[in-house]
Amino acid sequence: MAWITTDRAEIFLIFTSWMSKLIITNSKRNMFNLILFGPPGAGKGTQAVKIAEKFNWVHISTGDILRAEVGQGTPLGIQVKTVMEAGHLVSDELLIEIMKSVFLKHEHAEGFVFDGFPRTLNQAQELDKMLCRLNHSVKQVLSLEVDEDELVKRLLKRAMEQGRTDDTEEVIKNRLVQYHAHTKPLQQYYREKGIYTEVHGVGGINDIFESLCKAIKK
Ligand code: ADP
Repeated sequence: MAWITTDRAEIFLIFTSWMSKLIITNSKRNMFNLILFGPPGAGKGTQAVKIAEKFNWVHISTGDILRAEVGQGTPLGIQVKTVMEAGHLVSDELLIEIMKSVFLKHEHAEGFVFDGFPRTLNQAQELDKMLCRLNHSVKQVLSLEVDEDELVKRLLKRAMEQGRTDDTEEVIKNRLVQYHAHTKPLQQYYREKGIYTEVHGVGGINDIFESLCKAIKK
């Protein structure tokens, strides 16, 4: 029996040294995790692409991921299609699974720009846990401030240009209701952590981009 015990001890030692190496490597790497926050139509997608390009971070848009699944008619896509088209939120369980697998694919990234995630307190807490396991954290939350009239105008314009099925007037109202009920409360969550900053989100795309870049504490 003695050899079994030794073997186990060795395996345990190898495992713990590998885990600590992983944690040390990850903590040495100064991964920057930025959440771009705001209601539907605030311009998160447009600005997230520009920020990711400038800082060489990975842009994760949960809306884009889900739309791609719907477009390809995958089992996941079929499952979420009606929920999205009604302007409701897809379940936390699904989103968290998607996020974990996307995150694993990019474990060596220099940073992430999260766009459209987290949208609920549960998602925010899961994101914190996921990053904490790798010795990382959300570094900053930048909120794009746009008033509601302007949001509806923008979303209706996008409906004309891109034909998104979740951009009809009825569905837009629903998405804003979901935002106020589930997502807006996250402002307080991040304010309490001292990482929440508001940025004026009306004006030229490049001007807003400049304001965002100035606000990033890298
Ligand atoms: P917008 O940029 O206009 O806010 P998105 O493209 O981010 O919208 O998302 C489109 C839809 O995808 C949402 O209305 C919702 O149904 C679903 N969705 C995207 N991200 C999430 C999330 N984190 N949690 C739940 N549902 C989500």
